[in-house]
Amino acid sequence: MTDIVPAPQTPRVPVRGGGTFPVRRIFCVGRNFADHAKEMGAAAPASKAERGQPVFFHKPADAIVINGADVPYPSATQDLHHEVELVVALGTDAPPGVLDHAQAQALVIAYGVGLDLTRRDLQAAAKAKGLPWDTGKGFDHSAPISELVLAEHVGDLASRSLTLDINGTRRQQGSLADLIWDVPDIVHELSKLYALRAGDLVFMGTPAGVGPLVAGDHFVAALEGVAELKGAIVAS
Ligand code: MN
Repeated sequence: MTDIVPAPQTPRVPVRGGGTFPVRRIFCVGRNFADHAKEMGAAAPASKAERGQPVFFHKPADAIVINGADVPYPSATQDLHHEVELVVALGTDAPPGVLDHAQAQALVIAYGVGLDLTRRDLQAAAKAKGLPWDTGKGFDHSAPISELVLAEHVGDLASRSLTLDINGTRRQQGSLADLIWDVPDIVHELSKLYALRAGDLVFMGTPAGVGPLVAGDHFVAALEGVAELKGAIVAS
């Protein structure tokens, strides 16, 4: 049978050393740093035992913007915000069932750094009404991402920092040691909800310091010693 519309192209993220990572889905984690949860007015868990369940949401796969490309200022917002985040790339289809932490970590093929761009005004309005966050989070060009670096070349993530500079000024800085749910925790939790597949990406949540972006802003996001993401917000 013939397609009645053109088939969509699979979004692809370059991988350091060669090749690309075809993106299937983008999972995102909310409130994964206590300092950011507090700045958003949410209660932060006092300990791992009290952390409850992580907050998950999605972006469409074609929200990806590759390193160096311009990001058009989105429609329907007056308050576009930056959130710098660790990005985890899954390289293997998960076995059936809930994954233990070793199985969860074994799915990870690569890491990068990305921005969870957010229409904060739309998200805040949705939150106030108890409605879903989709229009605040899952819009076109809302997921700029660095090249991916194979996990075998990254080593231990635990003490690495995330940073974001806007026009040369530091706006966000956090340590991955402060994640409420670390990478195997999150993949374990996702496996309760979804059959995880090769090509899935996970944006792991942002530290404190989120704030506005305007057309003309240049951003440099970094996962310390691993990857860097550069780009600019342009008038649409
Ligand atoms: Mn986020």
